[in-house]
Amino acid sequence: MTTVIISHPDCLLHDMGQGHPECPQRLSAIQDQLIASGLDMVLRHVEAPLAERQHLELVHDPDYIDRIFQAAPAAGAQVQIDPITIMNEHTLNAALRAAGSGIVAVDMLMSKKVSNAFCNVRPPGHHAQRDEAMGFCFFNNVAIAAAYALERYRLERVAIADFDVHHGNGTEDIFQEDARVLYCSTFQHPFYPYTGTEPTTDHIVNVPLPVATKDAAFQQAIIDRWLPPLNAFKPQLILISAGFDAHIEDDMAGLALTEQSYEWVTRQIKNIAEKYAQGRIVSFLEGGYALSALGRSVAAHISVLSE
Ligand SMILES: [Zn+2]
Repeated sequence: MTTVIISHPDCLLHDMGQGHPECPQRLSAIQDQLIASGLDMVLRHVEAPLAERQHLELVHDPDYIDRIFQAAPAAGAQVQIDPITIMNEHTLNAALRAAGSGIVAVDMLMSKKVSNAFCNVRPPGHHAQRDEAMGFCFFNNVAIAAAYALERYRLERVAIADFDVHHGNGTEDIFQEDARVLYCSTFQHPFYPYTGTEPTTDHIVNVPLPVATKDAAFQQAIIDRWLPPLNAFKPQLILISAGFDAHIEDDMAGLALTEQSYEWVTRQIKNIAEKYAQGRIVSFLEGGYALSALGRSVAAHISVLSE
């Protein structure tokens, strides 16, 4: 298996201010751990291109895209999109690189250049709705990649597996009416953004988990609630919203997973991908704010993708 890591130096320049947990050091912590673990040597590295406007328009309203472009501040200035979601002069380019990483990843998988991909990018995306930025997210990277695969490669079934500790309200919003996408999410509940509680359709599978959920209960929830619909759906491509903020060392939230769960869930997803999708997986970094735990968890995730 060849795994490609897609990133770009622009993603390190987006900075929401001192003390903000969604910080540039997250990407460096991951890269450092990949090198320290020896994994880095077996991975391919590709720079993320800028997403084009037509890619953003696959899932975002044109007016919303205009608003984000117009909001981009001058050098040295900052603009608050919401109290925790802030743009500096580099944010727009970083967001375009993050969205572009999924486009090149899908292209590389569909042309069989690599087996799977991890997009080591920021800003993250799963809270970004059709017409609203929120929760550190501007463009919905995973949703753009899903829509691009459906459109460009005429796929009929794309699954998105989201194990970030927060519900991916943006991804649900975007695919609410599109049964070509199966969205499976685990998340702490009740917790930000306080969504995922509505009765859902067959193609939106929300699995709320109570505070302090540990590895065994998380894994049982995946076995009971994710694997049956994933097997029934037979996805032709699987995308992952890979947030690592459910880790016990991560203070952002209150779940108690260890990196063993990230290794385990990656293996479950990979088994499904090998059964139905020729192994095709594109994984996107979402949350994960305890830098050491983040590095170790991503290494566990990528060690399974690349084996
Ligand atoms: Zn999160």
